[in-house]
Amino acid sequence: MNTGVVVVIALAVVVAALVVANVVMKKKGYDIPGQTAARCSKGHLFRTRWIEGASLTAVRLGPTRRYQRCPVGHHWALVRPVKAEDLTAEERQVLDASA
Ligand SMILES: [Zn+2]
Repeated sequence: MNTGVVVVIALAVVVAALVVANVVMKKKGYDIPGQTAARCSKGHLFRTRWIEGASLTAVRLGPTRRYQRCPVGHHWALVRPVKAEDLTAEERQVLDASA
């Protein structure tokens, strides 16, 4: 097979996998892809842009964990996305106020 064709097929597979990963996260109730609520390992709550497979400002450690700067505590931390349905009314207010 010609190398160009192999590269195109490989790229198509990667793109398809990323699309599926984002759809799966959305189905699970996360605001992904998009501005999802997230919590750092110290418990700070904030919104962050989260797109599966396309993160330039964080180290990805799997689909629901990454290492990035926490904008609340100004420190590096393990961050996990929080499902919209898992937020309390109070937490949602805090997030909307800081957005
Ligand atoms: Zn923090």
